[in-house]
Amino acid sequence: MRSQRFLISACLVGIKCRYNGEDRKDEKMKTLMEKGKGVAVCPEALGGLTLPHPEIEIIRGKGEDVLLGKTQAKNLRGENVSLEMIKGAQRTLQIARKLKINAAILKEKSPSCGFRKIYSEGKLVKGEGVTTALLRKNGIKVVPK
Ligand code: SF4
Repeated sequence: MRSQRFLISACLVGIKCRYNGEDRKDEKMKTLMEKGKGVAVCPEALGGLTLPHPEIEIIRGKGEDVLLGKTQAKNLRGENVSLEMIKGAQRTLQIARKLKINAAILKEKSPSCGFRKIYSEGKLVKGEGVTTALLRKNGIKVVPK
């Protein structure tokens, strides 16, 4: 039987995919990858956002509100990037399904990958990101990192 694998936010394994072209490497996540237990995904890249790009925030709401069309994800230039964020979340979910992965370790405080906290209008607020919301709605366990 195959041992459990996790989707892991790509920036946590050292891929420079954050909005500013940096990573957030975490040695434990890198070790999981090296052991073949991780699959790196960056929802924002999967959604078509190029690097670098202005920081993105969810306006007065959380990830699920973006999925439902109740609010928008905008970058700091004021451009609506909700479609890219949703597309990235959907592609991440497709990868999980295709690889039969049912758990993800995602980077906290991101508008895509955040779990307990995200930024909204310059402040850290309670709430989850767009990808976290979609994965959890579809029964995938998310662990924040
Ligand atoms: Fe990292 Fe997720 Fe942001 Fe991609 S979308 S840079 S994986 S936190």
